[in-house]
Amino acid sequence: MSAELIDGNALAGKIRSELVPDIEAIREGTGAPPKLAALLVGDNPGARIYSRSQAKSCEEAGIAYDLVRMPAETTAEALAERIDALAADASVHGILLQMPLPEGINARDMAERIPPEKDVEGITAANLGKLLFYEGADLIPCTAAAAFELIRFAGCDLEGAECVVVGHSPIVGKPLVCLITNALGTCTCCHIGTRDLGAHTTRAEVLVVAAGKAGLVTGEHVKPGATVIDVGINRVPVLDEEGNPVRNEKGKKKMQTVGDVDFASASEVAGRITPVPGGVGPVTVAMLLRNTVRAATAQARG
Ligand code: NAD
Repeated sequence: MSAELIDGNALAGKIRSELVPDIEAIREGTGAPPKLAALLVGDNPGARIYSRSQAKSCEEAGIAYDLVRMPAETTAEALAERIDALAADASVHGILLQMPLPEGINARDMAERIPPEKDVEGITAANLGKLLFYEGADLIPCTAAAAFELIRFAGCDLEGAECVVVGHSPIVGKPLVCLITNALGTCTCCHIGTRDLGAHTTRAEVLVVAAGKAGLVTGEHVKPGATVIDVGINRVPVLDEEGNPVRNEKGKKKMQTVGDVDFASASEVAGRITPVPGGVGPVTVAMLLRNTVRAATAQARG
């Protein structure tokens, strides 16, 4: 491996320590810590694990975390009422919706129910719209913000840089394109309709991959010396040297978490690269904490 590792845990630690004085100021000013309420509807195992890790991160940071659990049979009306109640509760500064929601509930409608000032995931049309402007976007989607902070942490000068974002989802790819463009990077957005992905990625001085496809980008798709940010989280089987799945003592396939970038080949070509895990993931959590603190600070000012 020749690339330098971009350490997401180190950046997340730095961001979290920078939040300490702001959290103290809110506590002193209002008599209570910033508070995040997370709505978990149904019993999705992934969402449950995510909630537990959010609760732990909030506790470590001195942010109150309320997990509001609702049964899988919850109707859209009942969920909307719950969101409205949290919106009206002055002790709650941030509201987040654990995904996925049960079938029959429109996630977009529910997200739009969250008042923009409490939208700590930055997913309402109002907060996403602010990204089109250069200033005023405080509550930015956490993963897009994390990828952007990692680019800066890696020391990239974005002005004029050739940047390629693979993925055009509303909460990762597209907001990141806005952030890079606002910083005067020259940004190409690739997606499922892109004809020749490699023709674009091999031009990129800064390459961000957020497609949800393990191994989509390999070393031959990377420009020598590029900065590579791997947003993907994919669970794949561990394979032995012959390419067969490795099984545990119970006969179950052993699984591992990998990104969208084939780390072994890409790290031979890139200049700097994020690992998975330990890259975008911890910084995304730090962005959620930062958004909660920003929301609480703005609400305390009134
Ligand atoms: P999404 O499914 O909403 O969007 C995927 C995007 O990838 C789409 O824009 C699609 O056009 C593009 N795409 C898919 N296949 C492609 C291909 N073959 N070539 C080019 N583009 C292709 O996913 P998302 O919510 O944007 O998440 C993307 C990835 O990031 C997922 O792996 C997800 O698990 C991960 N993620 C990580 C974090 C984190 O904290 N690290 C947070 C959120 C999402």
